[in-house]
Amino acid sequence: MPTSNQHIPFLDLRESNAECSGRLIEAAARVIESGRFLGGDETRLFEQELAGFCGSPCCIGVSNGLDAIRLILRAWMQTRRLNSGDEVIVAANTYIASILPIIELGLSPVLAPPSPVDFNLDFSRVEEFITPATRAVMLVHLYGSPCWDAEVCRRLHDRGILLIEDNAQAIGAHASAPGIYGSHLTGALGDAAAISFYPTKNLGALGDGGAVLTHDPELASTIRALANYGADRRYHNIHTGYNNRLDEIQAAFLRVKLPMLDAENARRAQIAATYDRLIRNPFVKRPAILSGSRQVWHQYVIRSPRRDELRNHLKAHGVGTDIHYAVPPHLQPCLKGKFHHPSLRLTEQMADTLLSLPIANINETQAHLISNLINEFN
Ligand SMILES: *Cc1c(COP(=O)(O)O)cnc(C)c1O
Repeated sequence: MPTSNQHIPFLDLRESNAECSGRLIEAAARVIESGRFLGGDETRLFEQELAGFCGSPCCIGVSNGLDAIRLILRAWMQTRRLNSGDEVIVAANTYIASILPIIELGLSPVLAPPSPVDFNLDFSRVEEFITPATRAVMLVHLYGSPCWDAEVCRRLHDRGILLIEDNAQAIGAHASAPGIYGSHLTGALGDAAAISFYPTKNLGALGDGGAVLTHDPELASTIRALANYGADRRYHNIHTGYNNRLDEIQAAFLRVKLPMLDAENARRAQIAATYDRLIRNPFVKRPAILSGSRQVWHQYVIRSPRRDELRNHLKAHGVGTDIHYAVPPHLQPCLKGKFHHPSLRLTEQMADTLLSLPIANINETQAHLISNLINEFN
């Protein structure tokens, strides 16, 4: 019998950084002593290292993931590849940060249904949502699973539809088929990608951070200017831009953690495999292990029609869980009533049954214990 005095938090960020805390402190000291806090060597080197890791030629370090998405869309508007009112298709079950920049820029989000198999955009239905105003599709690699269908994406690309990846949750993941430019890595599949280094992400900073990746050097230079007040050089503002830069100290922290990311992702995959092998309960559906692709398990999300009871059962035995996401974007107070489509019901039903199990900081023994607790739930 599992003991009830066990305490397994859903996530412990101190634990996530424990392995490299000495090197993080050294990195902070290096930046403090350098006297250079923005736009220095740490950011430049991190951008090169991240571009190499993600298999994309251009990388711009920015302030956070939401700003990375906003900068990509704004840069396309600046170059008239997008115009206000254009439609951007995005999966309805994403985190709201994918959608906020679309709305803020006067573009129009079109919420398409997710696949019940992998929670990502349902590629068998996405083309039903295309209208003459469709100019972009946002591919959100939710929970660390690549959102990519080479055939459908090629057709979209050939119609001139821009492919933007929200890669906040899937850095290091591989799609089962190559992207537009030949790489299988998320972040290099489409026209441009946004990454987040929010502390809970698989590669987390010690504060906010983000990046844009692209194969398009012109887009990269527009974004670099936009993120720096719109200036292409000092006191020369070609766009009405933003201040969306990455801090040197965060870049220095990320340079410590990037070389550890493959091991982190592999460790998560091992815990996911253990859950997949051990969890057996008629009230619980495990997430799909996708053949041919590499998932990086930002979240391990099960589904249960008795989700709240199961969550309480785990909590009573000291196991923390979370829900990603309990309220879908179209039901948030700021968007409520603005989206109507029968397929949104599917997203709502999913939101009522999802449960995220601990995956970031747990070991095999704890994964066994959690699986046993789930199996005894009836
Ligand atoms: C975290 C996240 C974002 C936003 O990133 P921030 O760095 O927190 O701004 C966007 N989209 C998805 C899917 C995310 O998980």
